[in-house]
Amino acid sequence: MALTFTETPFDRAALQRGEAIQLRVLMSGARFVPLWEGLHLVDDAPRLVTWDHAQTQAHDLAEVVFLGFAGQTPWFALPVKGAQPEGMWKGLREIMPFLPGDEAAVLAYALAMANWRRNHLHCGRCGAVTTLTEGGHSVACPACTHRSFPRTDPVVITLITHEDKCLLGRQAAWPPGFYSCVAGFVEPGETLEAAVKRESFEETGISIGDVRYVASQPWPFPASLMLGFRAGAVSTEISRNDLELEDCRWFAKDDVRGFRERGDDAPGFKLPGRWAIARSLIDGWLAE
Ligand SMILES: [Zn+2]
Repeated sequence: MALTFTETPFDRAALQRGEAIQLRVLMSGARFVPLWEGLHLVDDAPRLVTWDHAQTQAHDLAEVVFLGFAGQTPWFALPVKGAQPEGMWKGLREIMPFLPGDEAAVLAYALAMANWRRNHLHCGRCGAVTTLTEGGHSVACPACTHRSFPRTDPVVITLITHEDKCLLGRQAAWPPGFYSCVAGFVEPGETLEAAVKRESFEETGISIGDVRYVASQPWPFPASLMLGFRAGAVSTEISRNDLELEDCRWFAKDDVRGFRERGDDAPGFKLPGRWAIARSLIDGWLAE
């Protein structure tokens, strides 16, 4: 099964983003993904709206983001400003377990774009109010001409193994019993491999040898790209960083398989949800 948020059905049509007049023409036959304060409009499923509806909602069309084409149909993200509009609005984390893969991917794309725009209303260099350009894929500062582009923050997440065991930890803020892989942001000037080794040592005291890339997953909470790795430990004594992890242990394969078979509702140890790349890494290891 494909990872959540990776089944994008889109042609992003990046070369058309600069054609402002053409994009306005496309809007008349487009589908719009409404977003308000980082939430999606839903009924039983996420609701898409047409151009007619978009216009009646007094949305700011200068803030619309061109997402691309699904087949022949153009799609846009439609940020809604002001007080909470009519309808039921929910966060993607809440609804993603119930969405088909392609819908989840589109909503993640739209949400990531909206999150970025909400954090770049002012120029990072001079503070002036910015203008959305390139079909929503760039902000320009009218005062100093500085331009910014959508951010994607790389996060390395690693399943560390040694013989028949894997290393899992938990943060204090997580739900009771929940354990996952070691993860952290890549820092400026750092390779992915170095980030994997640094995060492992900082959080758990475990030194690792070979690092192997497995897969990636967009994670728009608010702007991450999860980069999944496997790594073999060359030391096994845990020296946990209290500021990062509340607990960290080696778990035998049979135990982890047992947690998975018991499911998320059973008391005791729990694995990451099936929509998370951490779970995919764990499942891959269990299958070996
Ligand atoms: Zn500026």
